[in-house]
Amino acid sequence: LTKMSKNKHSESVRVVVRCRPLNRRETGPTERENILEINDQLGQITIRNPNAPAEQPQKTFTFDSVYDCNSNQMDIYDDTVGPLVESVLHGFNGTIFAYGQTGTGKTYTMQGVSNNPEERGIVPNSFEHIFTQISRTQNQKYLVRASYLEIYQEEIRDLLCKNNSRSLELKESADCGVYVRDLSSVVTKNVSELEHVMNMGNQSRAVGFTHMNDRSSRSHAIFVVTVECSEAGPDGEDHIRVGKLNMVDLAGSERQSKTGAKGKRLKEAAKINLSLSALGNVISALVDGRSTHVPYRDSKLTRLLQDSLGGNAKTVMLATVGPSGRHHDETLTTLRYASRAK
Ligand code: ADP
Ligand code: MG
Repeated sequence: LTKMSKNKHSESVRVVVRCRPLNRRETGPTERENILEINDQLGQITIRNPNAPAEQPQKTFTFDSVYDCNSNQMDIYDDTVGPLVESVLHGFNGTIFAYGQTGTGKTYTMQGVSNNPEERGIVPNSFEHIFTQISRTQNQKYLVRASYLEIYQEEIRDLLCKNNSRSLELKESADCGVYVRDLSSVVTKNVSELEHVMNMGNQSRAVGFTHMNDRSSRSHAIFVVTVECSEAGPDGEDHIRVGKLNMVDLAGSERQSKTGAKGKRLKEAAKINLSLSALGNVISALVDGRSTHVPYRDSKLTRLLQDSLGGNAKTVMLATVGPSGRHHDETLTTLRYASRAK
């Protein structure tokens, strides 16, 4: 059986959903109840409310691909991420987002488990992919650079800079478009150098946690790989093409207001939701195709990624959910957000 192509509107935006397995901490009766039914042939997820009367209709959503709890990291890489990385190697920009409630597997999907090759996530798998492809070419020269940044409360921090408490500015120029001023950009020659950069950034992200426990779930982390390729054309001149790959581990999508946040926490929550709702608006405007206005300017996240969303760029929205009845409401919200992006 072949999978059908379900995205009628847009070739450039793909929306996929991954469900993680139940975990050992989910032990209560509602917690252990699986409320999702996943049909990967049809790309459908059906959700039911464990607290509603049995006659209440279930809701079914359709996506470009869905991955149940038995899917592994390579399944997702091969059919969802690989094609996007190929297009980056051909000089296009691409972005992949992990969106979902905290604890549903965004970081697991993006980063994976570093000491287990089978469980490596999208980011390290893309490194391998990029350098394997580069090693197969003959007449081109490549320059691969990496940046790693975090957006927290609408402030940008460089994760590769020792003195990174400073917040960086977004700038715009005719030549470069939108860019982050003073952001580190590290030239890397192989997979292990890219991994080293990733580990440095992850460590620097972790340092932030000690100041606020769940900071990681409240910030957006963006790993950027820029691939520049130069090749002598028939005219003898060097032709250069540049592709940029953005891999984004978004802040947790759970509604912060529910937790009774006040004052500073509430303001912070508003800013987190702002970037996520701005992203939803941009993607649905792109998918719609008829919108004359794509609201990139509404948040730092969407402004920063402006040249990698829409146009010739490819985008993958990967929503993560858990199967447990305990999180019915958040899971439904995530499925709605993702299906609006279609
Ligand atoms: P998030 O980044 O969305 O907050 P995590 O990636 O930290 O969530 O995942 C929460 C927990 O669930 C972690 O212990 C992680 O290892 C585990 N987990 C998530 N997704 C999977 C999966 N597909 N298979 C196995 N374990 C997973
Ligand atoms: Mg995480």
